[in-house]
Amino acid sequence: MAELSTGMQVKLQGGTSCKIKKELGRGGQGIVYLVDYNGKDYALKWYTMACSEAFFQNLERNAKKGAPSSNFLWPEAVTEHQNGSFGYLMKLRPAGYEEIGAFMRKKAIFQDVNCLLQACLQICTAFQKLHLVGLSYQDMNDGNFFINPKTGDVLICDNDNVAPNGVNMGIAGKSGYMAPEIIDKETMPNRYTDYFSLSVILFILIYMNRPFEGVKVVSCPCMTEEMEKKLNGKGCVFILDPNDDSNRPVKGVHTNVIRRWPLFPKLLRDAFIQTFSREAITTPNKRLMDRDWQRVLVQVRSMWVKCPYCGKYTFVQPDVDGQPCIECGKNIAKPAVLNVGKYNIPLVPEQKIYLCQISSDDDYNKVVCEVIRNPKNPAKWGLTNKSGQQWTVTLPNGEFKLVDDGASMPIIPGLKIRFNKEETGVING
Ligand SMILES: [Zn+2]
Repeated sequence: MAELSTGMQVKLQGGTSCKIKKELGRGGQGIVYLVDYNGKDYALKWYTMACSEAFFQNLERNAKKGAPSSNFLWPEAVTEHQNGSFGYLMKLRPAGYEEIGAFMRKKAIFQDVNCLLQACLQICTAFQKLHLVGLSYQDMNDGNFFINPKTGDVLICDNDNVAPNGVNMGIAGKSGYMAPEIIDKETMPNRYTDYFSLSVILFILIYMNRPFEGVKVVSCPCMTEEMEKKLNGKGCVFILDPNDDSNRPVKGVHTNVIRRWPLFPKLLRDAFIQTFSREAITTPNKRLMDRDWQRVLVQVRSMWVKCPYCGKYTFVQPDVDGQPCIECGKNIAKPAVLNVGKYNIPLVPEQKIYLCQISSDDDYNKVVCEVIRNPKNPAKWGLTNKSGQQWTVTLPNGEFKLVDDGASMPIIPGLKIRFNKEETGVING
């Protein structure tokens, strides 16, 4: 397959063309060039390996369909066949984005827990949208994600194996990310194997070690195909499986997960324990799906609050009294909690309530309510309506009040807030 050279014009389908400016990098499948397209810089992935006609047609279909979410560096246009090969055009990765490997090596560090949770939420939502249109990603691994540590913004690349669920372009995946049933050669990638890989990615981002790399891997003399099957196939054991301690993290090796596992909420630990349980390893539909993860992560975000003693952030369980701050160790009294839908939101100063928590809208960044301190008496806290809608509030004595956008209400146990036709929240003390 011929490479392209600087200055060459490459014809795109639909009659336009782009011009090669320089090479940006190369891998096993092909070369990525910087190109000029309509006066703007883009990336062109050019295949140097043999690709089937089905692969080409799938790529064409995806380009025509368009990206399921703006998080994907999606194929925007496919080229004509030229010099015995073809490629596709995509947006360039902006500066400031890092690969997952950089986070694992601590070369990149999330600015704070909110940025980490934002990245996890963007990943879940992007894949939810991809799955919703009937596609599966099939090759999720640490090399596919670019993440901005300062904002948690995520870009997902290498979308050329994305295909309708059940259709496969020949890729099986990357070791350490592939579902056990693929390792055991029982299936090719599909939506359920994506769910497995998604949980692996989330685990790595949060705990900074791999979920199946424990003492079994450390004591493995040489990674043969047989060993790979044993360690990553259906016989694999989650390093923190409460029912099987045969593959625990090793002190001095898996330092990050040993330190971070107890720091994050039990809800999150339980989600990983469920999705990496023996049952979910062998029964793919028992795995957490992207929308399950969204709910877990949105709840976890609500539990990351400012400590009233040291002013630093810590996790609080909404239903536990006297839990120690992870920074200063002082016990925090159980705050009032807003129970709405599937969420239990501790009502402490600066807490935000999001649209996705009070409605079926999946906008997890739009703030609709905030906990504020009473300007005249900072010891008293209240809720400010920021939703743009009027809410109906029922006081514990049965009295109704209307709370307009921008107006506040006190945090009183027993107070009910009717946010919309779908959801009513109750404050519990
Ligand atoms: Zn504290």
